[in-house]
Amino acid sequence: MPELPEVETTVAGLRPVLEGQRLTLVEPRRADLRWPIPVDLRQRMTGAIVTSLGRRAKYGLVETDRGDVMIFHLGMSGRWRIDPVELEKHDHLLIETETGRRMVLNDPRRFGSLDIVRAEDLDRYKPFILMGPEPLGDDFNATYLKGATKGRKAPIKQLLLDQRIVAGLGNIYVCEALHMAGISPRKKGDAISKPRYERLVAAIKEVLTAAIAAGGSSLRDFVRPDGELGYFAKDWLVYGREGEACHCGALVQRRVDSGRSTFYCSQCQK
Ligand SMILES: [Zn+2]
Repeated sequence: MPELPEVETTVAGLRPVLEGQRLTLVEPRRADLRWPIPVDLRQRMTGAIVTSLGRRAKYGLVETDRGDVMIFHLGMSGRWRIDPVELEKHDHLLIETETGRRMVLNDPRRFGSLDIVRAEDLDRYKPFILMGPEPLGDDFNATYLKGATKGRKAPIKQLLLDQRIVAGLGNIYVCEALHMAGISPRKKGDAISKPRYERLVAAIKEVLTAAIAAGGSSLRDFVRPDGELGYFAKDWLVYGREGEACHCGALVQRRVDSGRSTFYCSQCQK
């Protein structure tokens, strides 16, 4: 499942192909993904020049010279392919540029989405309205997090997965950051001290930055013959390592809450 670093890397992979280019074709190949694709997306994007690409949480943003922003979400199984040899069954959006490049958004499970909004309305795009700060931004710091979790009795892991508190953090990165910061995933948000929040914020930024860097270094693989913007395997400290030794010598444990696995070490996470 694509997480924030994969979306960041995907945007970085699309940027050299799309930025500054006029789009000669933008063709949805079905009416909906998770929800309907706007019927005017094709007409608003075709002929426009892409001025910039960006990311908000796990959404990719493609801005044009017409003042529109196309917003894509990769859902559970979405991925872009650049210059595909041929179209496949689950290629749901086809884009062609004036220079003859092609790219497709492929999403077999269709939990992703495609939308288009005016740039000035981006903050009012429904998924963004109540969304918390970007985890890599300066607004996300220990003072903010201490305030946002004040009085909250919920476990810190659950709070970090709440998009209203911080945008775009997924299960893997929360498990890894809590381990790095030495904080138990079950610790109540309200009971964590400011210095421990300092360590937690630093850990979140570190795991995300390392994953983006790993993805960036694998960007050259993106321009393979099949052109798939792939995802990278990473060596996690606790995620997916149930029963293996933590660096402290204890065994990594796993518990399942509401269908989601938490990996942690009860010896070094208190
Ligand atoms: Zn440990």
